[in-house]
Amino acid sequence: MMHGTKILEEADRLMTVCNSCRYCEGLCAVFPAMEMRRSFSDGDLNYLANLCHACGACYTDCQFSPPHEFNVNVPNTLAMARAESWAAYAWPPALSGLFARNGLAISVIAAVSVAAFIFGFAALTDRQVLVGVHSGPGAFYALMPHNAIAALFGAVFLYAVVALVMGARAFLRDIGEPIGMTIGPGALWQAIRDAGQLRYLDGGGVGCFNEDERPTDRRKIYHHLTFYGFLVCFAATSVATLYHYCLAREAPYPWWDLPVVLGTLGGAGLLVGPAGLLAEKFRRDPALVDVKRGGMDVAFITSLFLTSLTGFALLLLRDTAAMGLLLALHLGVVFALFITLPYGKFVHGLYRYLALVRYAQERRMMGLV
Ligand code: SF4
Ligand code: SF4
Repeated sequence: MMHGTKILEEADRLMTVCNSCRYCEGLCAVFPAMEMRRSFSDGDLNYLANLCHACGACYTDCQFSPPHEFNVNVPNTLAMARAESWAAYAWPPALSGLFARNGLAISVIAAVSVAAFIFGFAALTDRQVLVGVHSGPGAFYALMPHNAIAALFGAVFLYAVVALVMGARAFLRDIGEPIGMTIGPGALWQAIRDAGQLRYLDGGGVGCFNEDERPTDRRKIYHHLTFYGFLVCFAATSVATLYHYCLAREAPYPWWDLPVVLGTLGGAGLLVGPAGLLAEKFRRDPALVDVKRGGMDVAFITSLFLTSLTGFALLLLRDTAAMGLLLALHLGVVFALFITLPYGKFVHGLYRYLALVRYAQERRMMGLV
């Protein structure tokens, strides 16, 4: 079968070899999903690529991996196919190039955002307010009115959601799902459990392969800290929004209050998780990864780490003259994170979840569960 790109041609070759071999069928969801097919369209291969969790087990276990002439390297090829698919699904399509130069793009956008907040604060107030000491409820809004912050971040959040939904739509079309198909609650729940536990990042039960042939759970643990840290930080922001609009209580809040407690717990996860993921990434066997797009992973992980770091700096120094600049720094980093969400590594969570839903649904339709 002809394919749209050279990477998909290679993925087709590998899946054809694997479908004859089937040695790895117990390692993850990719191989059982592959076995349900005799031939592979572009959409099938993109579905399998996004189902792969990059645990590396099928490379380590494979008797046909390099230097064997069959040159079977499933994790590496599926990683490249995944990245190509994300660029193809980007909305608007004109911005798909951001995936290729993601590290540079995020750095520039973050720097511009931080600078814009600093100049914006200076323009809205006089210099004394920017470097002055403000404390108590409403202190942040001496620098920028709450409604202006809410409108700006509401708009960027909405934009990110629309872009992600459009990307998801393109993905579902590509893998042949009818839009609006009736996916059963059982499949949705199974996929939530599989994604929440990172079930397929364990090499079939032994752990993830990283720098050598000794599997560990380190990547899974750091990923959990990052993912759940992000969710808890999101919960902190949501609670703060409810405080503001429903209880007329303005930020900043005391240390013991729920938004700060949640933000501190989530922020700790977002410091330790990304730092660990970054360390694991630099240690990883290059044969397993898409080396050309390594900057995309680093940029996203670093953005999360900086979001937490600047949040903690603001929390610790909010009653000092540094508050104005730290608030600008934190808001700038968060703004850059949200506006670049649809064009970087964040999308792997969305497409992987949708691939897991399809996998769960396929298994149900075939009576395998
Ligand atoms: S990765 Fe290698 S061992 Fe595993 S199914 Fe494919 S060909 Fe067989
Ligand atoms: S790298 Fe891991 S998750 Fe990906 S196909 Fe191989 S065994 Fe499955």
